[in-house]
Amino acid sequence: MSDGVQHVLGYLKLMHFENPNFYYAIRGDPSASNVFWIDAASRSNYTYFGDTIVFDTSYCSSDYKVPFATFTGLNHHGQPILFGCAVMLDQSEASYIWLFQTWLHAISGKSPISITIEPARFVQTAVSQVLPNTRLRYCKWSVFKEVQTRLAHLYESQPNIDAEFGKCVESESIEEFESRWGMLLEQYYLMDDEWMRSVYDARRMWVPVYMRDTFFGDHCGEGNKGRNIYFDGFITAETTLQVLIEDYKKAVGIWHEKELRADHDTSNTIPLLKTPSPMEKQAGSVYTKKIFMKFQEELFQTLANTATELEESGGVTLFRVAKFGEDHRDRIVTYNPIEAKATCGCQKFEFSGVICRHILAVFRAKNVLTLPSEYLLKRWTRNAKSGGSLDKHAAEEPTNSPESVTIRCDNLQQDVVKVGEEDAKYIQVYNVAMNALEEAAKKVAAVKNQGVAQGGSLANGENPLASCQPAMTLPMGDSKLENPSIQTTINGEKNHELLENIQKLVMNLNEKFDNCDRKCVHGHRLQIIIS
Ligand SMILES: [Zn+2]
Repeated sequence: MSDGVQHVLGYLKLMHFENPNFYYAIRGDPSASNVFWIDAASRSNYTYFGDTIVFDTSYCSSDYKVPFATFTGLNHHGQPILFGCAVMLDQSEASYIWLFQTWLHAISGKSPISITIEPARFVQTAVSQVLPNTRLRYCKWSVFKEVQTRLAHLYESQPNIDAEFGKCVESESIEEFESRWGMLLEQYYLMDDEWMRSVYDARRMWVPVYMRDTFFGDHCGEGNKGRNIYFDGFITAETTLQVLIEDYKKAVGIWHEKELRADHDTSNTIPLLKTPSPMEKQAGSVYTKKIFMKFQEELFQTLANTATELEESGGVTLFRVAKFGEDHRDRIVTYNPIEAKATCGCQKFEFSGVICRHILAVFRAKNVLTLPSEYLLKRWTRNAKSGGSLDKHAAEEPTNSPESVTIRCDNLQQDVVKVGEEDAKYIQVYNVAMNALEEAAKKVAAVKNQGVAQGGSLANGENPLASCQPAMTLPMGDSKLENPSIQTTINGEKNHELLENIQKLVMNLNEKFDNCDRKCVHGHRLQIIIS
C-alpha cells in the first residue's frame, strides 16, 4: 500500500475511533484501492438536505494527481454541503457501483430525488443501478466545456457562438429550445456534425427546460455555478495523497464557518421588507436570509406581472400571467381556490423549491395574503435542521434484512450525535429522538431475548433476524470494508460481536443522554435498558 493511501487511512481510522459515526470503506487491491468516507456531520446533514446531490468527478481526470470524487448538496442557505468523498484509484464501472452502494448504505439507504453528474458512462451506469428512482442529469457546464473543446475552431473564429449557445440552452420552453438549436446548427454549419447530434439526442439529460418538473435546488445559492465548488481552491491538480487530508480538512472547516456565519446573519438581521404584504413578512420570518431574498424578488416582480383569468372548469381556474409589455412571454397558471393550490408552466417551484412570480401574481389577484405551507419548503427555512430531523431511514428498509440491523446500529449512533449537536435545543426534537431510541432499544432487547446472544439458530419466524443471510457481505462481493460495524456478521460465530457492538452502542447512548439531560431545559432524561 502506498504511503499516500496509508496516510489517508491513518486519518480515517483515527476519525472513526474518535467518533464511531465517522464512516469509511475500502475496496480492492491495496495498491489500487478506492476509499470512501463520510463524517458524522455530513450523515446528519443528509437527513435534512439529502434531496438533491451533485456527484463530482472532475478531479478524477488525468490532469489531477489524486482522483478525488465528491458527493455534495445544498444547505438551507444554498451553500454547498458535503455528503462524502472518495479516492478512486480504480475507476472501473464496478468501482463506481461499489462507491454508490457504499455511499447509499452510509446515508441510511435513502436515495436523493435528483443527482447531477459529469457525463461519464461508468458513473451513469452506477447511478442507474444503485439509484434507479433518482432523476439523473448531466452537469450542463461540463457539456458546455466539452462543446467548447470539440468546436474550438468555431469558438476561436466566432466570438458570439458561446453566448448564443448559452441562450439556446437557457430557453424557457421546449419549443424555444428546439427552434434556437436548429438556428444555431444552421448558422454555424453544424447540421451534419455527428457529435452535436449526440449532444442533442441527450438533451433531456442536460438542458434545463426538460428537467424543470424535478427538484434540483438550482438558482438558490452558491451551488448553482454548475459544478461542485466545495473543494475549489483547496484541491488542485498538484494535490497529492499526502496533503489531500489537510486540504480536505481546510475545505470542511471553511464551509462550516460559512454556514455558521450565514446562520448568524439570518438570526441577527431583520429582513428588509419592500412591501406591506403579510406574505413578505411571513416569508421573512421563515426563510433563511438568502432564500428570502430569492422569494422577495419574485414577490416584487408581481408588481409588473398581471394575472388575467381565462376560464374556470371543475373548480379550477386558468390564468395567464405576463409581465407588462411582454405578453408574448406569458405563463399559464392553474389555480384551485378551495385547496389554495396553484401550478405554473414555468415550474420554478418544482425545480428550485421557491415559488414563482406567476403564481404569486395569481395569489395577489385572488387575495391569498399568506403563503400556503406547501410552498414553504422546510429545507430552505431557518428551522431546516430542527424537528422531523430524525427520520428513520432504516424503517424504510426491510426490517429483517441484515443490512437493516447494521443501518439501525449506525442510525442509533447518528441519532445520538445529532441530539448532542442540537444541544437538545428543541424539545420536540429531543422527544422524537428519545421515543425513537427507546423503540430501538426494545427491538434490541427482543433480539437478545430470542437467543442471538447465545449464537443459537435464528429459525424462529418471529425473530426479526430470522431470515438473515448467513453473513452480511458488502455491496460488492469483492469489497472490503474496514468499518468495524460493517464487518460484523449476523449469523454464526460472530453473532456475539453484533450484540456486543449494540451493547456498547447502548452504553454510548446512555452517556449521551446524560449529556443531553444536562442541557435540556425541561430536564428530560431517558435511560435505555436492555433486559
Ligand atoms: Zn411561474
